[in-house]
Amino acid sequence: MLLENLRKEVLEASLQLIRYGLVTLTGGNVSGRDPETGYIAITPSGMDYEGLAPEDIVIVDGDGNTVDGKWKASVDTRDHLYLYRHKPSLYGIIHTHSPYACSFAMLHQEIPCCSTTLANEVGGSVPVARYTPVAENAIGPAVMEVIGDKNACLLANHGVIAVGKSVRHALVAAVMLEDGAKVYHLAKCKGEPIPLEQAEIDKARNVFLYTYGQNQ
Ligand code: 13P
Ligand code: ZN
Repeated sequence: MLLENLRKEVLEASLQLIRYGLVTLTGGNVSGRDPETGYIAITPSGMDYEGLAPEDIVIVDGDGNTVDGKWKASVDTRDHLYLYRHKPSLYGIIHTHSPYACSFAMLHQEIPCCSTTLANEVGGSVPVARYTPVAENAIGPAVMEVIGDKNACLLANHGVIAVGKSVRHALVAAVMLEDGAKVYHLAKCKGEPIPLEQAEIDKARNVFLYTYGQNQ
């Protein structure tokens, strides 16, 4: 099977979206990019993640043509391709409709960076990309306007895009963004959360980029 391992990574991350409550039914999508061919493996459009097999993940080339797979690729495929083209360091992209983050997207409200979680995993406050309709290939350009070096942004009136240097990294950003959004929401119910200073955000971010976990 073409790019079997990448297909398995994409499928595993898709199942985690359900486990972590980041999507409902067929919402959201996941892709990973193969460094050698430049092809991407992406979830098929409108299909339940549970029950998918690796061969159900679609392989498309940089122009969006299907190279391998029997299903129609995600409706957001061209947006994933746009982001990969404009950010060569990315090898994984995840789109979710996770509820706490989405509630801020509905309000067009950036989530301020008041927790080390957002500093570590997103790289600061979570910006909002302007509203663009689905299936018009306009999500990618809107995300590029705001995401900078961050690992995630909100899509106004729609959801979340999380990115990373692997599918797993993008998944971690998507999960931790939702966690950060939830905690910010809870704090906001009790008072006015206090933003971290930029120098502290940078410090927290660097620890996670370079020394956290088993990094030396
Ligand atoms: P797909 O099932 O086509 O990936 O669409 C889901 C979605 O969330 C569109 O934004
Ligand atoms: Zn969506």
